[in-house]
Amino acid sequence: MARIETPNRIRGTQDIFGDEQRRFATVLDRFDHVRKLYCFQRVDIPIFEATNVFARSMGETSDVVSKEMYSFEDRGGDSITLRPEFTAGIARAYITEGWQQHAPLKLVTSGPVFRYERPQKGRYRQFHQIDAEILGAPEPAADVELLVLADQLLRELGISDGVTLQLNTLGDAETREAWRAALVAHFEAHRDALSEDSLTRLEKNPLRILDSKDPRDRPIADSAPDIDAFLTQEAAAFFKAVTDGLDAAGVAWTRNSRLVRGLDYYRHTAFEFVTDRLGAQGTVLAGGRYDGLVGSLGGAETPGVGWAAGVERLAMLLAEPQAATIDAVIVPMGDAANLRAMGILAELRRAGLAADMAFRGNMKKRLQKADALGARFAIIIGDDELARGEAAVKQLGSGVQTAVPFAGLAEALKAS
Ligand code: ATP
Ligand code: MG
Repeated sequence: MARIETPNRIRGTQDIFGDEQRRFATVLDRFDHVRKLYCFQRVDIPIFEATNVFARSMGETSDVVSKEMYSFEDRGGDSITLRPEFTAGIARAYITEGWQQHAPLKLVTSGPVFRYERPQKGRYRQFHQIDAEILGAPEPAADVELLVLADQLLRELGISDGVTLQLNTLGDAETREAWRAALVAHFEAHRDALSEDSLTRLEKNPLRILDSKDPRDRPIADSAPDIDAFLTQEAAAFFKAVTDGLDAAGVAWTRNSRLVRGLDYYRHTAFEFVTDRLGAQGTVLAGGRYDGLVGSLGGAETPGVGWAAGVERLAMLLAEPQAATIDAVIVPMGDAANLRAMGILAELRRAGLAADMAFRGNMKKRLQKADALGARFAIIIGDDELARGEAAVKQLGSGVQTAVPFAGLAEALKAS
């Protein structure tokens, strides 16, 4: 007889369960909590968009667009791409939904994103991001607010120790033009020593050579001119307003003058929260100001700033999550008790208590099950209890047992 081949999970995807699921939920819960404190609205946008939304926003030469997109032709012959990030889709929605009437608009979202990368620890093909953006605010205060939000999230997750905020400025258009020319001149002078990848970058996207990880590029990148000498007065003032704001809010930062974002519309602030606890996948949260993005998609010129963080990477940094707990497990013994237990279980749940039933094996097995579920109480119902109209309520921590009338169970559990 032919054996049926069992299906496989697609490489780079995850089935998130148990402990991992609890870590995941902790990140998303805290994010939702903090975004409310900062008065950011949640938005949900499509998982797929027309391919050109990403190609135009992220740039044809970016790693994501040139190598990592999940693109396909749908049945109507249109080119569709599974979102590799949120910012492009949010910028598209801003234009198509007429959100400029709400500017400045503070938004968050979260969910799965897709990139065709080599799977490894902290790097998946379907992973999850939390994302925060402010559209329609040219003020440096918007950059500060997003960074303080990110910092508070990391603190509330208990992972801010060992995570550093690295900050840079890419200046305004004039600054960037002048700096870019100086960089090209510098890299041209060292052409012979650059990696092949960086020779391509030199043609298409010279700024990216600065953050190359190739050891052949490092000395040349490290000796390249800093942006500081090229900053216009306005650009320098903007950066100072951001760093002053961070200092005022008590958020620590360090300058990383090699931190860049490749695309032409990136302006001013660029940042990453980095840790050395995750090996090569050390960037947990990254973002910057993208004042030209909405314009490049055909919308009215709109300033924007935002960040995204990998939920998996944040979850990996969390301390052991606390085991889940519930209020009660009902332990019925006998057919009559089974039926009564169903009624009581429904009542407890309707009263807002987390409760389950242990219906297999002897009493000992059932109490073990109650322990395994992390129950505070076991509610034991046998023939005697049925006759008296009372359950034996056992506090699983102390072992103390009391008799509680069936009708008063929910109140008694809530009170203790
Ligand atoms: P990296 O340098 O690690 O590839 P990136 O620059 O591509 O990151 P961004 O596009 O800035 O990352 O995405 C924001 C965050 O999303 C990253 O800081 C990281 O936490 C997470 N992330 C990016 N790619 C992956 C992936 N393939 N698997 C899991 N998390 C990821
Ligand atoms: Mg990447």
